[in-house]
Amino acid sequence: MRIRRAGGSSLVLSVWVAAASCAWANAANEAANAAEQASPPPPAVNAADAPVAGAGNWHVREVDGVEYLPLEDLRSFYKLMSLQPKGRRVAGQRIVGNGELELRFGPEPRELRIQNMLFLLTHPVQEDASGDLLVSKLDVLSVIEPVLRPTYIANRSALRTVVIDPGHGGHDVGTVSPFAREADVTLLVAKKLGAELTKRGYEVSYTQNQNQYLSPQARVDKANAAPAAILLSLHLNSGRSDMKGVQTYTIAPADKGDKILPGHPYVPASTALAMALQSSLVQHTEAEDGGCRRARYSPLNSVTCPAVTVEMGFATHPEEGARLSSDEYQMKLADALADGVDAFARVMNPATVLQVQKAPEVEPPAEPVKVAPAPAKKEAAPRPVRQKTAPKRARRAKAPVRRAKPVNRSNKRRRR
Ligand SMILES: [Zn+2]
Repeated sequence: MRIRRAGGSSLVLSVWVAAASCAWANAANEAANAAEQASPPPPAVNAADAPVAGAGNWHVREVDGVEYLPLEDLRSFYKLMSLQPKGRRVAGQRIVGNGELELRFGPEPRELRIQNMLFLLTHPVQEDASGDLLVSKLDVLSVIEPVLRPTYIANRSALRTVVIDPGHGGHDVGTVSPFAREADVTLLVAKKLGAELTKRGYEVSYTQNQNQYLSPQARVDKANAAPAAILLSLHLNSGRSDMKGVQTYTIAPADKGDKILPGHPYVPASTALAMALQSSLVQHTEAEDGGCRRARYSPLNSVTCPAVTVEMGFATHPEEGARLSSDEYQMKLADALADGVDAFARVMNPATVLQVQKAPEVEPPAEPVKVAPAPAKKEAAPRPVRQKTAPKRARRAKAPVRRAKPVNRSNKRRRR
């Protein structure tokens, strides 16, 4: 469904801005906003079953047997128009954006940063003879699309249960360093997170919460048995003593000839979940952003719901390891994860879109609705000063009158 003009799109904006203040929500909001006004239909978003981005305005090119899409097509679809053609080049990076949203490719060919959050792509980006950047179709559909427009994810459903999987347990103690013991830390964070999520109204279940050994399959079975669930598997990383930072893993999407694993239909939703958690973690803990990454291992392989493995830090790094063992930092991690779950739940709730779709018919409410500080200032008063804070976007959307934003009550209420 398309919503055109400021009435609709400012509603999209206010819903998301009111809903969450994290960088991801704002970015996604902006992209949805832009793409609502784009003429081509969205490409299919289910990366598992050969999507059809080749139709219409998408110009599929093949490089070494992998299908690629020109950056130019992305730019026009997501209306990333304000930068120079072919992206602005800075220190080996190619940047496209629109003032609020920024996609930065490089400097490594598999690196993409969306709003400064790192994603490791499945295929390296390529450059053709004319200098155009090519991004694999798989990465467009399994990373860029679900992050920029999570409300278009195919199998969205309201989130009810959070299954928390404290990694390791019992005789399997995980990584042990002089600074932290993995099984202990994951269980402590899991319990703190569970308490916080319960407070926020979620049903919480644990794969194990007694520091006991559980096979990978038993963990998967617990997650698959829970209704309307997501799985958060918590771990600590290990490596050289100078390695640190948080990483979030989702199942690697199926590519040509790859086996379709049970978790694959949840690739886009899992990517959105990873983005929500990873950006919240980096923001709250100020840990180094180790990126949203892909892997194929249990439990991600065979879970039939959105699932991530969060590597909350390196047990082997002297400072990070010590921090991970502290009660205070564990609390911080739990809060950050809970906020990430909240952000994910909001965009995955089908009601979010219904609201947006109905928006244009809704009469402005009698009383003014409070909305969290919106990026575009209230009414652009007819004064020459207005350029200051609301640059491009205000100009672009200035035609129709912006009335009091018709935000529906249920939407501004803090989730449950
Ligand atoms: Zn582990």
